[in-house]
Amino acid sequence: MSRTVFTGANLLDGANPPRPATTVVVEGERIAQVALDGAVAPRPGDRVVALGGRTLMPGMASCHFHASFDGATLDLFPLGMDQPAGVLMLRAARNVRRALECGFTTLVGAGGGDDIDAQLVMAIDQGVIQGPRLLPCSRNLGTTSGYIDLEPWWYRMGNLGACRMADGPDGFRQAVREEVKRGARMIKLFVTGGHGNVRAATRELTREELAAVVETAHARGALVRAHCAWKPAILECVELGVDVIDHGDEIDAECIDAMAEAGTFLDPSALYLEKLLTYAPLEHAPGFAPAREASRRELENLQRWLPEAEAAGVRIVLGDDYGTVLMPHGTYAEELEYYVKKMGFAPLAVLRWATRNGAALAGLGHELGAVELGRLADLLVVEGDPSVDVAVLGDERRLRAVLKGGVFVKDALGA
Ligand SMILES: [Zn+2]
Repeated sequence: MSRTVFTGANLLDGANPPRPATTVVVEGERIAQVALDGAVAPRPGDRVVALGGRTLMPGMASCHFHASFDGATLDLFPLGMDQPAGVLMLRAARNVRRALECGFTTLVGAGGGDDIDAQLVMAIDQGVIQGPRLLPCSRNLGTTSGYIDLEPWWYRMGNLGACRMADGPDGFRQAVREEVKRGARMIKLFVTGGHGNVRAATRELTREELAAVVETAHARGALVRAHCAWKPAILECVELGVDVIDHGDEIDAECIDAMAEAGTFLDPSALYLEKLLTYAPLEHAPGFAPAREASRRELENLQRWLPEAEAAGVRIVLGDDYGTVLMPHGTYAEELEYYVKKMGFAPLAVLRWATRNGAALAGLGHELGAVELGRLADLLVVEGDPSVDVAVLGDERRLRAVLKGGVFVKDALGA
């Protein structure tokens, strides 16, 4: 089996401070050896890559990914009907490949139409396109006349687009089962409004509906993620077993305790709010002032409580609404820089969110997210040290190599 021997690596293993002068051996799709003392005797036929102090680290995970979004306006719905399904799929194929080349070797879907995530997984597995590991998401599930049911009723032409409405526990059970049949392994729910908008929607699903979604999804081996901004809804989601809280704008000490105890993941996607506050074209848009005010409040609350969530052991993950006009695909690493430079987190903390926590959410916590013997070799080679300056991860020229399962998908090592 072919081997690649990386010598002289500044090893970032996803949890610990960097370890200089490490040798890492990749054999087939896995990590075959990690020698902290650097002592490895290469065999004939090995590709030996002298890293000379460049950083070797696990591939990263973006855990709120809308593959088919491309320049989506902030009038977010009805997404999924703006282009025919074939065009959306081609966009999605381009976007996941871009994510892979940016060093995001794992993605977790956050909602889209036409079973695009599930079909991307099939196409990637068959080798039709190149892409990261992807946990495929369902359509956005919401309730009739609720927050995401914004199309006029007379538009109905049989295309669900990116959104599917359901009502009652039985209606939600059926919706979840159908989405799972079509390949979803993550169910996206809109439990409240909020996160950069002022559409009221304090409560979308009844407690019985929410419980039915979680129970049905888990019984089929799927996870549940909830767009959920307000405290009572966050607490209810955590209590009923929702796996990922998206946004959590109104978190506080009580929410944090509950999430830490239940092991709930939190994807704050705070960069979206920051972008919303500074997006010039909206400056004078009619009706935008209240939304901006709400965003400011939400962002301030996240800034206040996210450090406490991190300290309490809540599993925070990266991922945001890339593909909206606020943040184009390909700029994923900006998020790391944002949490470090604007929110004051340590680079190692944010790197752990991007590696260990993301891998755990994708259900691959034992396989990915660390550079350890036996794990899958999803690896990055970076010029510079992200534990000193995470911004190096956003520089295409500094990201010298990307490996997925031991295979180079980007190779600018020059040897
Ligand atoms: Zn989203």
